[in-house]
Amino acid sequence: MSFTVEKAIKWLEKINEKIQENKQYLTKLDQPIGDGDHGINMARGFQEVVTIVNEKEYDTVSDVMKATAMTVMSKVGGASGPLYGTAFLKMSLAFKEKEVIDDATFIHGLEEALNGIKQRGRAIHGEKTLVDVWEPVVNKLKQENNFQADLILNTAKAAMEKTKETMATKGRAAYFKENSIGHIDPGSASSFYLFEALAEVLEE
Ligand code: ADP
Ligand code: MG
Ligand code: MG
Repeated sequence: MSFTVEKAIKWLEKINEKIQENKQYLTKLDQPIGDGDHGINMARGFQEVVTIVNEKEYDTVSDVMKATAMTVMSKVGGASGPLYGTAFLKMSLAFKEKEVIDDATFIHGLEEALNGIKQRGRAIHGEKTLVDVWEPVVNKLKQENNFQADLILNTAKAAMEKTKETMATKGRAAYFKENSIGHIDPGSASSFYLFEALAEVLEE
């Protein structure tokens, strides 16, 4: 696979579609273990991302990722804005100077994004945050070393569902201690949409 500017924009548009469709759901997930704004935050941010990336011509995927990062950081807000912003910024850096973004380069970009999220959030796997979805997906892709849409989708879905069983130790949900168990992490759900969108773009 070769990840082009066109594919990058398709990816962002698909993420936005899923976020808009599931805005209420994401917000509902954020009510019992947060402040009930995750859907609102993400919907506002990704709507703006789609506007921005369609407004201008971009020469490289790196530039598209950079514009996305800046928009997400300034428009999503909350805890998730800087985290997703960092993820796209790290991808932008990983793709810089790359003429062709093949599977290995793209997987490396996702790994850099994961490391950026972990660093920024001071989070590790198992703390009921979006790291719980990003890490298994990145690990699976590294293992396989190529893209299979099904693999991404299934790994992301199982990982998201598993956050229901864990207790939050980072972010707002951590204030709920044991009571955070039994709820899917909102950020893991939005990360699932991001990977579901990616799987769909790769299948086209
Ligand atoms: P806020 O909690 O500020 O209202 P959001 O509701 O938009 O922000 O996002 C909440 C999500 O952010 C959580 O569900 C979790 O996945 C993620 N999150 C929060 N804190 C951290 C952290 N320190 N590291 C990684 N992810 C985090
Ligand atoms: Mg919130
Ligand atoms: Mg908030």
